[in-house]
Amino acid sequence: MQRQPGGRLQRLVRSMSRATLCLLAAGLAACASAPEHQVMRVSVQSPHDLQLVNASALDVFNDTPRQFVDALLDRTGRGHLRRAGLDAELLVADVDAAVAASLPRFPPTPGDVFEDWRDLETFDAHLDLLAAEHAHATVIELGTSVENRPIRGLRLADPALTDPPGILVTGVQHAREWVAGSSALFIADRLAEEWGQGGEADAVLDEWQVIVVPIVNPDGYRFSWTTDRLWRKNRRDNADGTFGVDLNRNWGEAWGGAGGSSAQTANNNYRGASAFSEPEAASLRDLVLDRPELVRHLDLHCTGQLVLYPWGYTAQPSPDEDWLSQTGTAMQLAMEGVEGTPYAIGQMNPRLYQANGLGIDWTHEQGLRSTLVELRDRGQYGFLLPADQLRPTAEEAWAGFVALAAMGETVR
Ligand SMILES: [Zn+2]
Repeated sequence: MQRQPGGRLQRLVRSMSRATLCLLAAGLAACASAPEHQVMRVSVQSPHDLQLVNASALDVFNDTPRQFVDALLDRTGRGHLRRAGLDAELLVADVDAAVAASLPRFPPTPGDVFEDWRDLETFDAHLDLLAAEHAHATVIELGTSVENRPIRGLRLADPALTDPPGILVTGVQHAREWVAGSSALFIADRLAEEWGQGGEADAVLDEWQVIVVPIVNPDGYRFSWTTDRLWRKNRRDNADGTFGVDLNRNWGEAWGGAGGSSAQTANNNYRGASAFSEPEAASLRDLVLDRPELVRHLDLHCTGQLVLYPWGYTAQPSPDEDWLSQTGTAMQLAMEGVEGTPYAIGQMNPRLYQANGLGIDWTHEQGLRSTLVELRDRGQYGFLLPADQLRPTAEEAWAGFVALAAMGETVR
């Protein structure tokens, strides 16, 4: 070791990481210099590693963990992981400060709806505005949430076409994934505003009808604005002091299978009391059953920059694997073409990570060609994406959607 100038104590301090100092201090009290809540990127090599991280973390930030997990940890959890010897790097040094810094201005700023994050009321008002201004756009109400809020979407179709095949676009099954909602709204907005101008909106609506449901989980979305920015689930009162069901574990395909969701009510992947116990997931189920013209499903999430296709509950390939992977690749290239943001593509279940009761698995089992896109970013901000990335992310979602619509085959 190279000898450094300065006193013995200084050298000692230099040679010790901050974590070591914290560990030494932990005998007296929790380390005061490190914030309570941090996000660490933890390498996982096996299901056992993943289990260990899940047991130590307050929360997991990448929706579909692969070789690593972005884990929200308090000091105790960080201690567990250090003792287990898992490799970890610091992503967000002070989560509470990052949440405070990322909150939109209250009340929402007027102006271009895609300049900043928007609350539920602004989403609703924008859907109404698009329907009022465009004859080919209609507001539909799918049902109501646990707290009795309407689940609303926009249907876009050329009135001259009789029953064209349909694409379903959904966002914000998970409350905190704000950029998924804004991106879904952006798709609806472009299809409404740019139809008849000879561009991409025309190419889509010449062949398809499109139903966009930007906010599948209105109660959770609202709660993430008013109370807990990092809320994921819906707002079901589980009658044991806990709240919320993970809507994207509540669908009827392989619901409750071993692993891949949780039976614990407090867990962020709590699957609910039964398949489709939650009105938000059941409303989408009914929409798909009532409208056999729907043959594709694009489900928007964040984060991770991934284009994923069924299955999530098993590593077995779908019978439509070739089509799904070709289409996913076309979407990936289109999204990367916007401004060079890298996206990866693959089957949702890459052996390490399994998820049961997924929306895309259920719609795919019904015969739809289904894709789940994890939008920006790759963990630098996670769910707390700065508002200046909203529009570029939405442009990427649009490019992926247009590429999806351009792929042939329209039968369920
Ligand atoms: Zn999600």
